[in-house]
Amino acid sequence: MMKRVYNFAAGPAALPEPVLKKLQEDIFNYKGSGMGVMEISHRSKEFDQIAEESESRLRKILDISDEYYTLFLNDGASKQFSVAPLNLKRGKASADYIQTGHWSQRAMDEAKNILNVRIAASTKDVNYTRVPTQQEISVDPGAAYLYYTANETIGGLEYPYTPDSAGLPIVSDMSSNFLSKPIDIKKHGLIFASAQKNFGPSSFCIAIIRKDLTGHAPAGTPKLDDYAVQAKEGSRFNTPNTLAWYTADLVFEWIREQGGLEAINERNRAKSQMLYDYIDKSTLYANPIQKSSRSRMNVPFTLKTQNKELDKTFVEEAKNAGLTNLEGHRSIGGMRASIYNAMPIEGVKALVEFMKQFEEKHHT
Ligand SMILES: *Cc1c(COP(=O)(O)O)cnc(C)c1O
Repeated sequence: MMKRVYNFAAGPAALPEPVLKKLQEDIFNYKGSGMGVMEISHRSKEFDQIAEESESRLRKILDISDEYYTLFLNDGASKQFSVAPLNLKRGKASADYIQTGHWSQRAMDEAKNILNVRIAASTKDVNYTRVPTQQEISVDPGAAYLYYTANETIGGLEYPYTPDSAGLPIVSDMSSNFLSKPIDIKKHGLIFASAQKNFGPSSFCIAIIRKDLTGHAPAGTPKLDDYAVQAKEGSRFNTPNTLAWYTADLVFEWIREQGGLEAINERNRAKSQMLYDYIDKSTLYANPIQKSSRSRMNVPFTLKTQNKELDKTFVEEAKNAGLTNLEGHRSIGGMRASIYNAMPIEGVKALVEFMKQFEEKHHT
């Protein structure tokens, strides 16, 4: 079998190897049924068990109380940019958004079709090099909710704290740091996350929603987009992405085996620290983000002196060394290393080692 590489893709991203190996078996013959897991009915006993098991595992990992529904939804997080305001508007005229870069902007652009978007805080004036402090967030008490992007995947920003909203429901897009650390669920009204960063294949999403915030979608809302309908139907109003759902179940079990989110968090902290420490003391590379706002999941870096040719050489030589998908996002260039849960510490060590050798060859 061909050797696997260290894959630093931002998403779809690497999955834990034990999960992939288990999937290989189960795609062919699920639990001795003679059928693959994506060949069984979403209404079968076998799938009932997957649905129940995955939900209880997720609830355990994140310590989710009965006040919340956990929904497994088709489509990625981008779908929630309009589904969330539709469900949570509840007769209000506006919602408060915190503007921190690409993904919060995308969410605001979609929400504008449904309600007035008010900016509760923004770090645009400092080029999105940090998240706002709590003091900088000014909440409108009449707004439907306060929205923040927990981790800006492209900019490489992550909140080191959970914003407070003075009582408004808080909505968070956690697509790129979901399950990377413990979450204070009770502070949130709605959390959503697409699967392809940290827990499965693309076009699949989890929403954790406080029960009292459901049941208010306006008349005419497509049934699939109504959280109350999805909750009532156990996320199986129509045929869900059963393979993605099962993959998520395996990833939840893998997280438990790793020691849960405290242990995962500690490993993610150590991985990102190693990379940032090296970048900060190097003479060749730079990361523009203020230290306290740096993402533990996505580490963008550039050459101190811009040189697009050398960027290309870096990415190519890294690939030859078994370190793939290090090119930066098309909107900012440079390089980016995404180091989600499935990236082992050895992968980050190998990257730092490669960066050192590259620096020795190319320092000026
Ligand atoms: C990847 C990502 C999205 C978009 O997810 P899709 O599944 O492509 O819709 C949204 N928000 C954040 C923070 C992301 O990282």
